[in-house]
Amino acid sequence: MTDEKVEMRGNLVTLSAKEHYRLIFDRRTPGEVRTLAHIKRFLECFLGDAAFKSALLENLDNPRTVAARYGIDVDPIEMLPLWHPNYLKFDREPERASWPLAVAWREYIGEMVRHRDLLRDEGNMSVAAPRFHAWRERQMRRCEDVLGDFSKSITHPVIAFELSEGCTGGCSFCGLSAGRFKGYFEYSKKHADLWRGVVGVAREMFGSAASTGFCYNATDPMDNPDYDRFLLDYYQITGTLPQTTTAMPLKNLALTKRVLELFELYRCVTNRFSVLSTDQLNQIHATFSPEDLMGVELVLQGKGMPSSKAFAGRARNEILKNGDPTPLSKRDHSTIACVSGFLINMPRRRVQLITPVPASTRWPLGYRILDERFFGTPDEFQDEVQSMIDEHMHESPPSNRPIRFRGDLQYEAKRHHFLLRSCHWEYQVPDNAASISAGDLIAGGHCTASDLVARVVRDGASAIAVADGLDQLHMKGLLEDDLDERFAGRSSEGGT
Ligand code: SF4
Repeated sequence: MTDEKVEMRGNLVTLSAKEHYRLIFDRRTPGEVRTLAHIKRFLECFLGDAAFKSALLENLDNPRTVAARYGIDVDPIEMLPLWHPNYLKFDREPERASWPLAVAWREYIGEMVRHRDLLRDEGNMSVAAPRFHAWRERQMRRCEDVLGDFSKSITHPVIAFELSEGCTGGCSFCGLSAGRFKGYFEYSKKHADLWRGVVGVAREMFGSAASTGFCYNATDPMDNPDYDRFLLDYYQITGTLPQTTTAMPLKNLALTKRVLELFELYRCVTNRFSVLSTDQLNQIHATFSPEDLMGVELVLQGKGMPSSKAFAGRARNEILKNGDPTPLSKRDHSTIACVSGFLINMPRRRVQLITPVPASTRWPLGYRILDERFFGTPDEFQDEVQSMIDEHMHESPPSNRPIRFRGDLQYEAKRHHFLLRSCHWEYQVPDNAASISAGDLIAGGHCTASDLVARVVRDGASAIAVADGLDQLHMKGLLEDDLDERFAGRSSEGGT
C-alpha cells in the first residue's frame, strides 16, 4: 500500500484516491488551474496538430503570437523544456527551474501519476474479500512479469460494466474487437432497479474497492443516451463517480456536457477522450474551452500522434495480416485491458471473470476469460459471483489439478534451488526439502499437487514444508492456472 497522508488539525489523515484527486485542484488557485489548462491545450496542439507545430517552430522568436492565434493564453517561452527541441534536455534536470510553467506542469503530472498509483491501491480487498484480493494480487504480479514497465499503467479495477451491446464506432484498430452495435440498456424502472441492485451487491461484496469500477469496455459510453443516469446511481451507491472514456465526445454533445458537469460536481478521476485525427482534435478544441477540458485527458491516437495503438484485438489482426515484422517483445503494449475482476454486460445479464494478458491467438482481446455466467436478479448476480470466487480463487493450489509453472516462465534447476525467469524478472526458489527435486516435478508437468506432495514426502521431506513451498509459489502467482479451454480464442465480442 502506498498511503497518501496529509496533516489536518494536527493529525495525519490517510487520503482516498478521490480525496487526493480533489486536492490536486483545491490546493491550487483558480488562476493556477487556468494556467495548467492552457499549458495542456498548448501541448495537445503541439503533439496533435502538425500545422501548429510547424508555425511554432517557424516563429521561435515569438511563439506567443502563434499560441494566441489558437486561444492559448500562456507564454511558450516560459515552458521551453516541454517543447523546444534545444531545451528538451532540461525537462528532467534542475535547470528546469528557470522555466516556471514547465515546473508547474511537471508538478501537476507527478501528482496525476501518484493518483494512478492510489487508484490501484483502492482495489485493496484484504478485509472485504480476502480471496479475491489475493487472486488480484497474483494477477498484478503476473502482469509485472509479462508486461514489464507497461504494467505500471494498469490499475486493475475490480469491476466494469457495459451498458450497450457492441459499439457504433467500428474502429479498425479496436483493441477489444468491439462487435456490431445491437442496442443499449435503457434506464427504464426495471433496468434501473436491476442496475442499482447489482452495483449495491458489488459494494457489499467488495467494499470500497467497488469504487474502482467504470461503465464501458468493448462499448462506448456515448452509445447509451442514458449513460449519465447510470453514472449518477453509481456515485450515489459507491461514493465515487467512475471514469468516462469515449472516442465519440461530439456524438451526443448534450450527454458529453452532462458527464462533464457531473465531473465538476464530484471530481473523482480524470475522464478521457480518444482523438483519432487532427480534424477531430480541432473540432473538440472548437467545442470545449481549455478550462472545460482540464478534467479530460485527450489520448492522441491519430496518424503521427504520440499514443500508439495496442497490439490487440482488430489492430493485432491487421498487423498480423500485413506481416509487420516487429517482434512482440519490442511492442510497448499488447493489451488495453485493465480489469482483474468482473466484467458485466447489462443488456445480456452476463458476468465474466477476466484479467489482462498480452494478446495472443489464445486470448486475442488481451484479456483472459476465466469464467462466464448469466443472471436475472441482483441475488442471482451475487450467487454467480460468489460461485466464481469459490471456483477460481483458491488459497492453495487445488490438490487434484495438474501442477506446473506458468507458461511464460523459464525453469532452470540449480543445486538446492531453482530459477524461474520471466521476460522482466528472475525468481530464486529454495528446493532442498528432499533428494528428489520438487522444482523438476513441477517443471515436468505430469503430476497433481497431491501426487507431488506424496512423492516428495516419500523421499523424506516434511509434508508441511512441501505444502508451504507450493503455497508460496501459488501466492506469488508462479503456477499455471490457465488450464480451461472453454473461452480460449474468443475474438469478436467485444475499447475505446
Ligand atoms: S475503439 Fe472504442 S469506439 Fe472504437 S470500436 Fe472499439 S470500443 Fe468502439
